[in-house]
Amino acid sequence: MNSGIPSLNIPATPIDDDRSEATPSDGLRAVLDNLDALVYVSDFETYDLLYMNAYGRRVWGAIQGRKCWEVLQNNDGPCAFCTNHLLIDAEGLARAPHVWEFQNTIDQHWYQCRDQAIPWTDGRLVRLEIAMDITDRKEMELALKEAHEQARAAALEDHLTGLHNRRAFFEFGNQLLKQSRRHKSPLAIIMFDLDHFKHINDNHGHEAGDEVLRQIGKILGSKVRESDIAARIGGEEFAILLSETETDEAQEMADRLLNLMRETPVCFRDAPIGSTASFGVSSLRPGEKSLESLLARADEAMYESKSSGRNRVRVKA
Ligand code: GH3
Ligand code: MG
Ligand code: MG
Repeated sequence: MNSGIPSLNIPATPIDDDRSEATPSDGLRAVLDNLDALVYVSDFETYDLLYMNAYGRRVWGAIQGRKCWEVLQNNDGPCAFCTNHLLIDAEGLARAPHVWEFQNTIDQHWYQCRDQAIPWTDGRLVRLEIAMDITDRKEMELALKEAHEQARAAALEDHLTGLHNRRAFFEFGNQLLKQSRRHKSPLAIIMFDLDHFKHINDNHGHEAGDEVLRQIGKILGSKVRESDIAARIGGEEFAILLSETETDEAQEMADRLLNLMRETPVCFRDAPIGSTASFGVSSLRPGEKSLESLLARADEAMYESKSSGRNRVRVKA
């Protein structure tokens, strides 16, 4: 009864020898045929449909001489998702009903199914399923889930560049750090801040500045691997966490990124805008537990780049 679907046991009314079509008494037939749910019974071994109420016949058609998978699903054979094995224990006795949700392959509606092994009129155990259409509820749930996922993705994305934002950097970065510690694998960080970005805004306008940031985002996005985390963590400040990467490899990557920036001026309203950045590189130390301390070290290295003339890469291992 936990499913909210009434438990039905078809009583052992005498039937003739044709086991393909059991006939409930008139009263019971009236109840079953007026239920707003599918009720059917099938043989565990042959899959022959032994009974289906009017609701089922209306949606899936006649059952005479047909098998459950032929009538109820779009299959060439028994369903891969058949629950029969869950309904009988090793001693061949009926287990507790199995309740599950499923999207029917013919009408595409969602059903809450309550499957149970019950003794049939001749004493053998058969499969009884009672299935209620829950499409409206399911579609609402799925829409809500999608909206949650979209909201979460939006909350973790930097809208200007499409990279991760600061919050995502810490959320995913902490996961990556834990993973690196668990596998004792190297983890490196590259951080950079655009040089004299205020001048770009002042000389070309804020929109041009935005375009430069977008372009840097594109360069970063195209250079990192799926397992890395690239983020805009501040106005004109970016960070990349590189899994399975040693400090010297991260330094090489920072050099490549800086070269790419130098070589790729952003064209805004036909005017080329060149930009450079000051980079700081570091990596996780043995025993280091915090992403904040790793980031702080990269930040120190980056400020060394700034104070020693900008447009360069500094490492603090
Ligand atoms: P430095 O080389 O020392 O980093 O100089 P800077 O001019 O880059 O640094 P500063 O911190 O003085 O200025 C950063 C500028 O970045 C100021 C701010 O208006 C601009 N900025 C921050 N976020 C954005 C943004 O989203 N779009 C644009 N266009 N500008 C931004
Ligand atoms: Mg700057
Ligand atoms: Mg800055």
